[in-house]
Amino acid sequence: MNVSSKYRGCLIGAAVGDALGMQTEGLRNDEINSIFGVVRDYGRAPISYPNRKLKKGQYTDDTEQMILLTESIIEANGFDVEVFATNIKKWGKKLIENPSLNRTVGPTSMQAIKNMLSGAYWQDSGINSDSCGSAMRVAPIGLLSSDIDQVVELATLSSRPTHTSTGGIAGAVAIALSVSMNVRNVPLLELIYNIVSKVKKIDQTLAGSIRKLVTSPAEDFFGENGVSSSVYETVPASFFIFINHIDSFEDAIITAANIGGDTDSVACMTGAMLGARLGVDAIPNRWVLGLENREYIERLALGL
Ligand SMILES: [Mg+2]
Repeated sequence: MNVSSKYRGCLIGAAVGDALGMQTEGLRNDEINSIFGVVRDYGRAPISYPNRKLKKGQYTDDTEQMILLTESIIEANGFDVEVFATNIKKWGKKLIENPSLNRTVGPTSMQAIKNMLSGAYWQDSGINSDSCGSAMRVAPIGLLSSDIDQVVELATLSSRPTHTSTGGIAGAVAIALSVSMNVRNVPLLELIYNIVSKVKKIDQTLAGSIRKLVTSPAEDFFGENGVSSSVYETVPASFFIFINHIDSFEDAIITAANIGGDTDSVACMTGAMLGARLGVDAIPNRWVLGLENREYIERLALGL
C-alpha cells in the first residue's frame, strides 16, 4: 500500500469517525440504543443536544483542530508551536465572536484560547486538565516522522498551548506514536509496547491502562474504563477498539460511535489510527463520500 493512501486514510479516517460519533456525543449507551438502535451511518444529534445544529456528515471541533494543526504544519514546513498556537488563537477568536460557529469546543481548549487572547504566550496559556483535546487533534504529528523520539517531542509540544497535564500530554504522545507506527505497519504487540515504554515516562497511569489492554483486558471494558472526555478514558477506549477491530475500519467506528459519552473523540482517534494502518480504501465509501470537506482534507493529507 502506498504512503499517500495511509496519510489520506489517517486524516479522512479521523474526520469520518468524528462525524459518525458527532450524533451520539454526550448520550449514554442505553440512550443511544433506544433512540438510534445501532448507529451505522451519518445522522443528526437528538434535539436539545449541542451538536444538533450540525448536519449529517459534518464533523466537530476535534477535526477542526486536527485541520488547524495540519494547516499549521504545512504553513511552517514542519511543526512550529508558535505558528500552531497563533492559529488556534485566531480560530478561537472567531468562535467567540460568532458562537454559532462553535462546534462544541471543550472547556479546556476554550479557556486556553481565552488566556492567549488576554495576552498569554503559548508557554503559559495551557491548562492543567486531563481532557483529551490535544490527543484528539494530534494525528498529523504522527504522520510527520518515523523517528519515535521526535514524535514524542513534537506531540508533547503540540499539547502545551492548551493541555499541560501529564495525562493530557501522554494521551497526545500515545495517539501520535500509534499513527506513526501504523503508517509503518509495526506489528500490534510491538506497537503497544513501544507506546507503553514512552508513555510511562510521562504518565504511569495512562501507560498502565494501555498495557492492560493486551495483558489483562477487562470483561466489561467500557463499563469499567468509562467513556468520559478524560484522557484516561478516551485514549484507552480508542486503543481497545483499535486492537479489537484491527482488520475492520467499519466495525471499529460503529463500535466507537455507539459506546456513549465522548463518542466523537473516541471515534476520531480510533479512525486516525486505523486509517493510518489500513489506508483510505478500508473506509466505507458511503462514509468517505458523505463527509463534509472531504476533498480539502485529502489535499491536506497529501500536503504533508
Ligand atoms: Mg468534538
